Amino acid sequence: MEHPENNDKYKGLTVNAGIEQPSSVNPYFKRKVRKPQLSVQDFVDGIVKGDVTILSQAVTLVESVKAEHQAIAQEVIEKCLPYSGNSIRIGISGVPGAGKSTSIDVFGLHVLERSAGKLAVLAIDPSSERSKGSILGDKTRMEQLSVHPDSFIRPSPSAGSLGGVARKTRETIILCEAAGFNKIFVETVGVGQSETAVHSMVDFFLLIQLAGTGDELQGIKRGIMEMADGIVINKADGNNIDKAKLAAAQFRNALHLFPAPDSGWSPRVLTYSGFYNQGVTEIWDMIYEYIDFVKANGYFNHRRNEQSKYWMYETINEQLRDSFYQNPLIESMLSNQEQQVLHGELTSFVAAKHLLDTYFMELKK
Ligand code: GDP
Repeated sequence: MEHPENNDKYKGLTVNAGIEQPSSVNPYFKRKVRKPQLSVQDFVDGIVKGDVTILSQAVTLVESVKAEHQAIAQEVIEKCLPYSGNSIRIGISGVPGAGKSTSIDVFGLHVLERSAGKLAVLAIDPSSERSKGSILGDKTRMEQLSVHPDSFIRPSPSAGSLGGVARKTRETIILCEAAGFNKIFVETVGVGQSETAVHSMVDFFLLIQLAGTGDELQGIKRGIMEMADGIVINKADGNNIDKAKLAAAQFRNALHLFPAPDSGWSPRVLTYSGFYNQGVTEIWDMIYEYIDFVKANGYFNHRRNEQSKYWMYETINEQLRDSFYQNPLIESMLSNQEQQVLHGELTSFVAAKHLLDTYFMELKK
């Protein structure tokens, strides 16, 4: 019987031979070639040559939380260490609105004009972890420096604890110095602990203050004032000059009450206007005088050695802490022990001992 499918009019059901396909749909499309990962030696060579792109990439590795990035970063840092150290490191602190970015912009231009070399501006911003983005060290805040060919501005690393953030900034200092940056500014907000961190990595700690309405010293922690090698009262301009001078006098009086610092240097108080660029030269005269003074009496090296020691112990403490708190068994026990302490069923010490004993037993396994 004749079947309809065999009829010629159903020819459409047979498979046609295809047409030839072009070798590429878009012959102009270029496949993205993955950049080959630089070796440790490539990083070191690039940094020592002063290649800022490679320096930035290395800093990104320093800031990374990935173990494989950290491994490369640590090797690079170690190899850069012999090229580092040849700089002046200045810590700059002040509450938000004190005029840090305005000041750093003019300070930066001043030091670059004053002597040969390059300037790196780094930051430690303990709040950046929460806000997931650092304001300090933001290039847009330093209009002139950000376009200066001899400056390198890097915002605060944002991952981890204050100690972790600070350690990364310290490691970045080493890389910057190896890349020929001989002036380093480390900026921080005046909120307390971050000053201690900055103080532990700089040669001179500059505290920017404002003249307020009443007692200038209120609200400034004694510890922060004690760390300062110089206090500068900003915005001494227009009708604020007298107030700024009065504030300076109050700070001077207060500083007299503190014991003399180990450096043998008596911290000074100056007034200036970052915005109008007045009194800036005097501030840097003071800082350079300090550097000469402590280099002559040996304190400069002593302070750097103490800082190296401090960072060794800080790193040990940080890693021990991480190892303890990230231990799965400890993690699973922690909230229960805490509850027992809160309900008065265990004393703090017994709970702590129990957790630590468990941790040490875990290590032995
Ligand atoms: P930061 O938050 O400490 O970085 O402070 P900024 O540099 O952003 O300055 C805060 C505000 O103070 C800005 O509006 C600046 O224009 C102003 N300011 C900074 N320096 C001076 C100064 O020397 N004199 C006056 N009158 N205002 C200033």
